[in-house]
Amino acid sequence: MKLIFASHNAHKASEIQSILPSWIEIKTLSDLNYLEEIPENEATIEGNSQFKARFVQDKFEQNCFADDTGLEILALDKRPGVHSARYAGEQRDSNDNMNKVLMELEGNSDRSAQFKTVITLFWEGVEHQFEGIVKGHIASVKTGTEGFGYDPIFIPEGESRSFAEMTLSEKNKFSHRARAIEKLISFFNTLPSH
Ligand code: IMP
Repeated sequence: MKLIFASHNAHKASEIQSILPSWIEIKTLSDLNYLEEIPENEATIEGNSQFKARFVQDKFEQNCFADDTGLEILALDKRPGVHSARYAGEQRDSNDNMNKVLMELEGNSDRSAQFKTVITLFWEGVEHQFEGIVKGHIASVKTGTEGFGYDPIFIPEGESRSFAEMTLSEKNKFSHRARAIEKLISFFNTLPSH
C-alpha cells in the first residue's frame, strides 16, 4: 500500500523504507512530481510535523506522513529547536550553526541537550504522532566526520563519542529519528496484515 512521505529527501525515504513492512511502499513528493517545498513556519517541531502531514493529506487525500527534527539545548531555552536548519541564517550551513551554538554556550557549565523527532502520520484519515528523543550534551569542540547537521558537537548519554564519530548503524541505536520510526513501525505492526 502506498504511503506518501511529505519530503523530497530520497535518502531519508529509502532509509525508512528499508525498515518498514514490505507491504508499505513509500513515495516522496518528488516521486509524485510535486516539486515545491512545503512551508515550515510553525512555532514548534510538533507543529511543523503536523502542518506538513496535513498539507499533503489535504492535497493528495492519501495515507501520508511527515517528520520534523530539532536540537533542544536546555541552557538556550530549547534553541535552536524548530529553527535548527537555519539557526545561523538562510544559508543552512551546519558549520555556521554549530559555531553559533558553541559561542552561545561558551563558559556555560550546563550543556545538556536533546534531539527530538516528531513524525505525524495520517492513516485512513486519522492523525497519529510519534516522538523520538535522545538525550545528551553539547561538546566543547567538534569531533568526527560522519553524519550531518549538529552531529560533531552532540554526545549522546552514556557515550564519550559524538554522533559524528559513529557509523550510521551505531548512531541508529540511540537516534531520535530511529526511535520515532520504531514507534511508526510498531503502529503498522499492530494493523491487520495486508
Ligand atoms: P529535519 O527536520 O530532519 O530537516 O532536521 C532539521 C535540522 O535539524 C537539520 O537541518 C539539522 O541541522 C538538524 N538535524 C536533524 N537531524 C539531525 C541529526 O540526526 N544529527 C544532527 N543534526 C540533525
